[in-house]
Amino acid sequence: MAVPAYCPPYGQGPADHADDQCGTCTAAGNGTVDAASIKFVYESSQRFHFPVADALPLIRVLFSLHLEQRMTKNIETRVLIVGAGPVGLTLAIDLAQRGICVLVAETRHRGEPPSVKCNHVSARTMEIFRRLGISKAMREAGLPADHANDVSYRTTFTGQELSRIHIPARATRYSDKSGPDGWWPTPEPPHRINQIYLEPVLFAHAEATPGLTVLNRIRIDGFSQDDDGVSAKGIDIDTGEEVRISSLYMIGCDGGRSAVRKAIGAKLSGTDVVGRVQSTYFRAPDLLSRAECAPAWATFSLNPRRSGNVYAIDGRETFLLHNYLRSDEPDFESVDRDWAIRTILGVSDDFEYEILSKEDWIGRRLVADRFRDRRVFICGDASHLWIPMAGYGMNAGIADAMNLSWQLAAHLNGWGGEGVLAAYEAERQPITEQVSKLAMDHALALQKEREGVPAGIEEPGPAGEAARKLAGQALYDLNVKQYCCGGLNFGYFYDASPLIAYDGESAPAYAMDAFTPSTVPGCRIPHLWLADGRSLYDAMGPEYTLLRFDRAVDVGPLERAAALRGVPLAVLDVEAEDVPSAYRNALVLSRPDQHVAWRGDCLPDDSLALVDRLRGCFFGETAL
Ligand SMILES: Cc1cc2nc3c(=O)[nH]c(=O)nc-3n(C[C@H](O)[C@H](O)[C@H](O)COP(=O)(O)OP(=O)(O)OC[C@H]3O[C@@H](n4cnc5c(N)ncnc54)[C@H](O)[C@@H]3O)c2cc1C
Repeated sequence: MAVPAYCPPYGQGPADHADDQCGTCTAAGNGTVDAASIKFVYESSQRFHFPVADALPLIRVLFSLHLEQRMTKNIETRVLIVGAGPVGLTLAIDLAQRGICVLVAETRHRGEPPSVKCNHVSARTMEIFRRLGISKAMREAGLPADHANDVSYRTTFTGQELSRIHIPARATRYSDKSGPDGWWPTPEPPHRINQIYLEPVLFAHAEATPGLTVLNRIRIDGFSQDDDGVSAKGIDIDTGEEVRISSLYMIGCDGGRSAVRKAIGAKLSGTDVVGRVQSTYFRAPDLLSRAECAPAWATFSLNPRRSGNVYAIDGRETFLLHNYLRSDEPDFESVDRDWAIRTILGVSDDFEYEILSKEDWIGRRLVADRFRDRRVFICGDASHLWIPMAGYGMNAGIADAMNLSWQLAAHLNGWGGEGVLAAYEAERQPITEQVSKLAMDHALALQKEREGVPAGIEEPGPAGEAARKLAGQALYDLNVKQYCCGGLNFGYFYDASPLIAYDGESAPAYAMDAFTPSTVPGCRIPHLWLADGRSLYDAMGPEYTLLRFDRAVDVGPLERAAALRGVPLAVLDVEAEDVPSAYRNALVLSRPDQHVAWRGDCLPDDSLALVDRLRGCFFGETAL
């Protein structure tokens, strides 16, 4: 299969990729059966003395073949991504920045908003966006800059406040350390923004990235793969035209109903139903003026009649309300939507609101048993689905994307062997399995709170006061873990990777809330601020970076070994006033995804063997 022979690294290619082969149509209508063939049939009839009429069926077949071929566009790209959701776009941007030409096929129209789902971008995802050059634009989008990011627990949206988790507004997010996550060692605190504002930022960045093409209104309808590549069939939804897309690798980022997942034979397993939720996106310009308390980003209503959660979407008049059905309410029709909305809001029948969209959905805990079949991978919701507690569906998918993208790019750029491709499933599958359990456990704990509301919680007087105080504290203690989930952000580690050189020490335990920064191989590189004011992450190279804390240590053999094998390696001499205690060694080697690959006080005896491990090759094996 022909593939573009050369794809320039990010920033070094021509400004306009339209005339190279990266993700553009390379052979539209390359029919071989044309007028010349028909002429050939006519001449043959003359030469071999058979009537032209006898050849008519053959001419018809040739002509229809010709038409079919003329209607099929053929596109070649190095990587095809199915789905331009947040995971597909992030993956595409990172691959393209690593010099890999990538094409994204998406059924939605250009600019068509996604469903109003995700509201929380984790600190870890913002760190990833920072590396991709998107975090500033992302931080500026969403709620008004001074809109509270707090989580408020109340009897109803317009009722009495039970407790409040304070999270600074985005205007002061970098400087205001007053919230429970203010101490986190990160250059990028979390960001509260709905997916309808997030995706356009990602899309604009994707469109501006050289080597990346998004094809909207193309549905991938099937594919086949062999030793040389993947051939996918796309349909132009508006014209019915067929598009053939040939690639070296394909990644299904096609969401929870992923057809790619089914096609590679991956099976979801876990818990089918954790909870049922009626979600309603609505406009209500009068709602904020009816509330007694200061606005919040998330407002949770707890009362004996109906509990639910309301997210501020534009900070003025649009809201997303989740009505969590009780365990004795087995179907969506068993609860009157309008009644539930009014009860959660605490408003009477004369209150007016306009439904913009609604969705009834089942919260699950499902993880695919495989994330790959040879040249085809799955990523994001295509590979795992769970009830979005702690706001960690998309964020986990983006972590998948960051993991897969550098590994795939290493292979395609010629320095990563076949082993580098095996790491994705080995690293991400166990982690997503663990996140899914943490999210489910939290959903069940919250369900218990909702179903055990103290009867007097809305009563005036000391008994009501006491009930509210108790419930408020319990809700705070339970939920600060999910809304300030430091463990999910920074605590995940890869403990069974073929690419990591372990040294026998175990990583700190993985939990939703707590985490301990660590340089145990497999953990996220602990963040620090350099003496010159830069974030460590901004100073690191795009691929492997060796952090050196003692300039006297000779790192030449590792540099030479990396150069010999073509592995990009930067050496960074760390100058910092506050070095976290996790940095106990003179040398810590960071992978391209900012996880520790190896550490030590001096280089290992065999630097070449270490480099071969990093690139997923057996000793001396060539990568491609
Ligand atoms: C109520 C709710 C709240 C949530 N809140 C959060 C939160 O706060 N934080 C968080 O991290 N996560 C949250 N999530 C989860 C989050 O929305 C998803 O995890 C996220 O959208 C997954 O992104 P994705 O790119 O994997 O898939 P999707 O967003 O589903 O994108 C898949 C894309 O693929 C396209 N596609 C599908 N099939 C094809 C095909 N055959 N050909 C071409 N294109 C195709 C689709 O059009 C779509 O654009 C929430 C989910 C829900 C339901």
